[in-house]
Amino acid sequence: MITGTGHVLILGGTTEARQLARTLAPVPSLRVTTSLAGRVTQPRMPDGEIRVGGFGGPGPMAAWLSEHRVAGVIDATHPFAALISANAAIAAAAAGIPLVALRRPGWQPVPGDRWHHVDDLGAAAALLPALGRRVFLTTGRLGLAAFAGLEGLHFLVRSVEPPEPPLPRHTRLLLDRGPYTVEGEKELLRAYASDVLVTKDSGGPATAAKLTAARELGLPVVVVRRPPTPPGVRTVPDVAGVVAELERLGCLSPGAAGTCP
Ligand code: NAP
Repeated sequence: MITGTGHVLILGGTTEARQLARTLAPVPSLRVTTSLAGRVTQPRMPDGEIRVGGFGGPGPMAAWLSEHRVAGVIDATHPFAALISANAAIAAAAAGIPLVALRRPGWQPVPGDRWHHVDDLGAAAALLPALGRRVFLTTGRLGLAAFAGLEGLHFLVRSVEPPEPPLPRHTRLLLDRGPYTVEGEKELLRAYASDVLVTKDSGGPATAAKLTAARELGLPVVVVRRPPTPPGVRTVPDVAGVVAELERLGCLSPGAAGTCP
């Protein structure tokens, strides 16, 4: 039987973070807390303890880690949540505790895909007029101001929470949250006569169906590249990788109590 020691903080807001909490919360003697940003009105709640809201920057996060005797931090936030990841790297170093990043692998194109990689939303907006007129925009609720100046284009914007203005003049809003199916995505693309898709390289299966749908309909896709993970942070691709790291750190061990700091 696996036994734990110490207090592990999961920075959450993703499917992987919930899977990790579900794996770790039942481990005897291991205390598991997930931190959520508090942006989603009805978040899917993870197992174990939960805290909600920003820490107030890396300094207060380091203080929180020390005050709550956290032995290790798992950054399981979304690959595009770059600020919290940078803050976690600074805070964990300041508190003198290990940090592991759980990053699902990015999507890879397959034959038939018509992907155009760009570095950010501004570059995606600059490319769009050359690719289509009716855009299915799935990059989330933040940063849509980058597209607001594209007067002649029509946008179908899908996000979990309503986006903040400014938005493009011709915008239809679809509030929804995955997972999605290929058939459903094809229906949506056809119903709105979309001729181009914009996505972040989020990776993972929950929102990948749109890529298959675009390929099968022959549509181009603008893929926004991920921001880099903070330098020096150990990165694993899945929950099993985190478990292996926690075993290496002594926070999980078979049989007797471990040696987690
Ligand atoms: P961000 O830009 O990297 O972070 C902005 C601020 O939000 C951080 O400085 C921090 O505030 C607070 N914050 C973010 N994640 C937090 C967490 N798990 N626990 C406590 N505070 C957190 O983040 P974001 O891109 O807005 O994403 C917010 C949350 O949504 C993340 O948890 C992420 O996993 C999830 N999410 C993001 C995306 C995306 O595309 N960005 C997609 C799906 C889910 P303080 O500085 O005050 O500590």
